[in-house]
Amino acid sequence: MFENAKFVIDSREAFDGCVFVALKGEKTDGHLYVRQALEKGASLAVVERDVDVPKEKLYLVKDTRYFLQQMAAQKLAMYDPQIVGITGSNGKTTTKEMIHHCLGKELAFRNPGNLNTEIGLPLSILNDYHGQPYAILEMAMNKPGDISTLCRIARPHVSVLLNVGTAHRGVAGGDEQILRGKLEIVENMREDGIAIVHSDPRILEKIKEKKFLAFGFYSGDYKLVSYKYEEFSTIAHYETPEGKKKVRFSAILNLGQLVNVAAVLAVFDVLGLDVDLSKFETFIPVDGRFKVIKVDDVYAVDDTYNASLESFRIAVETLKKLGKRAYAVVGSIKEQGIYSEQTHRQLGRILEQLDGVLVYNIDHEIDAMECSKIILKSDEPKAIVEQLRNLLEPKDAVLFKASRAVGMEKVLELFLGGK
Ligand code: ATP
Ligand code: MG
Repeated sequence: MFENAKFVIDSREAFDGCVFVALKGEKTDGHLYVRQALEKGASLAVVERDVDVPKEKLYLVKDTRYFLQQMAAQKLAMYDPQIVGITGSNGKTTTKEMIHHCLGKELAFRNPGNLNTEIGLPLSILNDYHGQPYAILEMAMNKPGDISTLCRIARPHVSVLLNVGTAHRGVAGGDEQILRGKLEIVENMREDGIAIVHSDPRILEKIKEKKFLAFGFYSGDYKLVSYKYEEFSTIAHYETPEGKKKVRFSAILNLGQLVNVAAVLAVFDVLGLDVDLSKFETFIPVDGRFKVIKVDDVYAVDDTYNASLESFRIAVETLKKLGKRAYAVVGSIKEQGIYSEQTHRQLGRILEQLDGVLVYNIDHEIDAMECSKIILKSDEPKAIVEQLRNLLEPKDAVLFKASRAVGMEKVLELFLGGK
């Protein structure tokens, strides 16, 4: 009865003929909005309990979240695509988009945007997947157990573990928990599955019994061995069991992402796909994830989407290779809990390598950071941008980076808009 149905979980987004699924969240309960969803045209509401609307409009289940996940699992089982699951602390979205770009949308489905959770993933499969032979799925975790749930919906043939860092460590409960949680993607792959993992000793030690390939910078089966930035392009060389590969990008990719390309090459080999390497040339980095924009001969780096210690480290390293002088506008790294002080102390040390640092959106977390390169602290995008204009010269590079909640995009928009 749900064949070809479109599912909605937010009643404000309901439309004619959709199926509204009432989920109980931390903040609210979808059952309170069933009436509204039906008024907006939903043909049916999937619920866990009775709601005061005509009975024929309700479809009662024990657990609406589980219902959504089961429906998605059934749809995948019906088409039986080769499933590539991708997790890791940094670079999931970019890596997923890159694989999808190289394969093309006729061959490959991917969960769009950041629909990578136990609700987002099934929703995207139900609403957007239309039977392509490959499903490239970003899988996110907040806490141990999350990835296992996602693998129950979509059990990977190929499990990619990009890296294990410190993102959301406050929420996950610590670094050990993060490692354990992410390894679930390897533990829950298909019996005949293959894992592609970062050649991090902490990971390798835990997966000895599994079938896997490792990738890394100068290490692993698939390795990045050199890279070079030109005016506005990148050339990288890889060594793989299938031979040496030279990949050119018509964009500046950061070092972390260039390493992740080694994993992408491994995915194609494992799937037995002979992908034309020139496809990488037309890949455009995702907005907000280390996307380099050239304005008035200055390299402005839009990394406003999110931040972790590792992605900061990589960004600063890349920035220094890019421009004559390297600056950054930064804000705090969130979701660090009891580790916040330690994280920001380490961030301060990373930023010492730069020529100047401007702090935006001063909260107690970033305010506690010590760094001798701080030029200005301000809550005003305008003040930050004015200072930048005085500072920057042609060929300089400037990074805009902070956690999502900081709203760093406001500063970038003003900087780009005024140029
Ligand atoms: P999210 O958890 O927010 O969904 P994500 O894992 O999907 O993040 P992206 O959005 O693709 O990751 O990129 C996040 C940031 O990580 C970007 O700044 C990107 O350049 C950086 N990055 C990519 N690969 C690495 C890496 N190997 N090490 C550190 N940083 C990296
Ligand atoms: Mg993502």
